[in-house]
Amino acid sequence: MTLKVFQCKQCGSTVFPARYFCFECGGAGWLERAAERGTVDEFTTVRRRVGAQDGADVLLASVTTDVGPIVIARLERAVRVGDAVGLAIDEHNRVLALPIA
Ligand SMILES: [Zn+2]
Repeated sequence: MTLKVFQCKQCGSTVFPARYFCFECGGAGWLERAAERGTVDEFTTVRRRVGAQDGADVLLASVTTDVGPIVIARLERAVRVGDAVGLAIDEHNRVLALPIA
């Protein structure tokens, strides 16, 4: 699925996740915008605790989307800061960042 961010109809600010009111102008009307690509700002490895059902480490990145908002995304593999990534939503409604080869 495509990641959607929300653009204020009044002032054009984009936010993610959705909000009731725009931080910039207080507007309450939103347009959905697809956020299909972004750039990695930073990333970190979250070590799962011993005994957790799925013991694999999780890579998380903060990604500035091409349409503005910063999102936290799961990474399939390590990337570098500044790398371009594709963005998508998985079946658990998590944001995924997919390295663009
Ligand atoms: Zn606004």
